[in-house]
Amino acid sequence: MNNNEMFQFIEESFEENYELLRLEGGHSLSPQVKKLALEQVKNYWKKLRHVAENVSDTEVRLTLPQQSTPSGRPYTIQGVVDVVKEDDRTVMYDIKTQDADFVRSNKKDYEGQLNIYAHVWQSVREQELDGTSILATGETQGLRRAKQRSFLTNNDNLLEEALEEWEPEVPIDIADERIEGYLESFGVVVDKIEEHCFEAPSIEKINSKILGNKTFAVHVCRNCDARFSCDTYKEYAFNSSRVSNDFLSFYEDYGTEQERVEQIETTLEEEV
Ligand code: SF4
Repeated sequence: MNNNEMFQFIEESFEENYELLRLEGGHSLSPQVKKLALEQVKNYWKKLRHVAENVSDTEVRLTLPQQSTPSGRPYTIQGVVDVVKEDDRTVMYDIKTQDADFVRSNKKDYEGQLNIYAHVWQSVREQELDGTSILATGETQGLRRAKQRSFLTNNDNLLEEALEEWEPEVPIDIADERIEGYLESFGVVVDKIEEHCFEAPSIEKINSKILGNKTFAVHVCRNCDARFSCDTYKEYAFNSSRVSNDFLSFYEDYGTEQERVEQIETTLEEEV
C-alpha cells in the first residue's frame, strides 16, 4: 500500500469509527475538531510508520490472576498491549491518550503498569522482551502551537519542523526487581476502590508542578468533568482573585473560548 492509499484507508476507517462511536456514545465532534483529530491520526502514520508496519500482535490481552491485596482481597490484573517484533527485537507498546511531554515528565506513573505487563509476557507467556514503550497519542503543546503558526503564516515548513521534533514514543525501563513493589501498589489501589475511598487529592498536590510550569490543577483538573463538584478544585479556584471576586465565574468555566464555540457548533449540528 503506498502513502496515498494509506491516507485514503485512514480517512475511511476514521469516518467509520467516528460514526460508530457517535451512535454508541451519543457524542459528536465539531467539524473543526474532527478535522484536527483526523490530521493527528495521519501524523501518527507519518511518524510511526515503522512501528505500525512491524506490529506482530495487536490487542494482546495479558492476564495475571490470583493476586491478593494487602487486606487479602483476591484480584486479577488484565491489560491490552501491542507487540512489535523487528530485527530480532521484541518491544511491547501501550497506547495512552496523554501527550508525550506529559508522559515523559511523569514516567513513574507508567512504570508500574508497563513493568507488570512485561512481567506477564515474560513469565507467564515465557517469551523474551527487549523493551517497553508508551505511544502517547495526545497533541503536544509544541505541535499545537506550530499548527497555529503554520496556519496563520501559511508556512507549512513550521509544521513539518515541529513534526520532525515530535517524538510520541516514550521508552519505559523494565526493572524485574521492582515487580513486587508495583504489585503491592496495585493491591493498595484495589483496596481503596473496594473500600470506596475516592477522595480527591490535597490542595498541595493539585498546586504542584507536573509538566514544566503547569500545575496538576491546570493540566489535569481543568479537563476533569468532576471539577465543579470537587472540593479540592473548588478550594483551588476560590483562591484565585477572579473567582473570589465573582463566584459565578467558577460555574461559567467551560474551558477556553474556542472550546465553547466548538461545543455550540457540535450541539447545533446535532439538532439540524
Ligand atoms: S478536579 Fe478532578 S482531577 Fe482535579 S482533583 Fe478534583 S477530581 Fe481530581
